[in-house]
Amino acid sequence: MPDRPERRAPRTTKLVVRRTEWVTPHLIRIVAAPEEPTDVDRFADSPHTDAYVKVVFRRPGVTYPEPFDMATARQLPREQWPTLRTYTLREVDRAAGELVIDFVYHGDVGLAGPWAAAAEPGTELLVLGPGGAYTPDPSADWHLLVGDESALPAIAATLAKIPAGAPVHALVEVDDPAEEQKLSTAGDLRLSWVHRSTLGEDALVDAVRELEFPAGRVHAFVHGEAGSVRQLRRHLLDERGLTLDQLSISGYWRRGLDDESYREVKKSMAEADAEADASRAPQRA
Ligand SMILES: Cc1cc2nc3c(=O)[nH]c(=O)nc-3n(C[C@H](O)[C@H](O)[C@H](O)COP(=O)(O)OP(=O)(O)OC[C@H]3O[C@@H](n4cnc5c(N)ncnc54)[C@H](O)[C@@H]3O)c2cc1C
Repeated sequence: MPDRPERRAPRTTKLVVRRTEWVTPHLIRIVAAPEEPTDVDRFADSPHTDAYVKVVFRRPGVTYPEPFDMATARQLPREQWPTLRTYTLREVDRAAGELVIDFVYHGDVGLAGPWAAAAEPGTELLVLGPGGAYTPDPSADWHLLVGDESALPAIAATLAKIPAGAPVHALVEVDDPAEEQKLSTAGDLRLSWVHRSTLGEDALVDAVRELEFPAGRVHAFVHGEAGSVRQLRRHLLDERGLTLDQLSISGYWRRGLDDESYREVKKSMAEADAEADASRAPQRA
């Protein structure tokens, strides 16, 4: 029987944390370097502005063969496999040999947030990847970037690559003004910070609904909390008339579910979306 895809282990890269910084009260920046310096090229060469890695967390109490390798770890019983979490490469500095990853610190719950809060120079950081899917289309008339704190690293990396003068609207949901960051771009940026603490959990959806879309063809990047993203998907496809090729859209996390539980429901959500897409297509023809 052929291997199931989840059994095909991608290459593991060992990084070592060089420094950490609290960028805002809920965002921790980890700067890490591959143990093998030339490995930085594999990350720097990604064509995607949402390039991401899977961070590998060893299970407490399990001894893995050294040097750690995901393919070898997956020969152990399933319950001993390491736990994975997905994080965007906010920046790759080829000259310095460094990767920059911004972790949302959403309290003492979960695995990755608390790990980032405790990380210090010398801490090991094992990653798989990079993966990625989105690059802003240079032929688009304008760009729409929408997301919460978890998507902010990808939005920032995208803004850094937007061509000079290209119109871009970015709507970013954060808890409050203390979570805002300085973002740089050569594009013609209209940036709106949306504050969840005062406007509530639907604030981002409302902000996109209220946005006056410029004329022309948009290329959109929309990621963040899965419930909000789902509402935005319907709005953009059904009410704004975008087509799927204009959209990079997915939930990065789901309120009330840890990543394992979210991944279990994600598949059925994607199937329901695909059905809705199929019923929408003939109406456009
Ligand atoms: C392609 C991709 C790229 C991503 N890039 C980034 C990134 O660069 N930075 C980043 O911080 N996240 C990013 N995420 C989201 C991140 O993978 C999830 O938020 C992940 O669940 C965090 O793991 P955890 O161990 O901290 O919490 P979990 O153990 O997964 O969850 C514990 C609890 O915390 C809640 N929770 C999880 N994430 C958040 C959050 N952001 N805010 C509030 N509550 C939360 C859960 O709903 C759950 O109740 C990305 C996800 C994807 C799919």
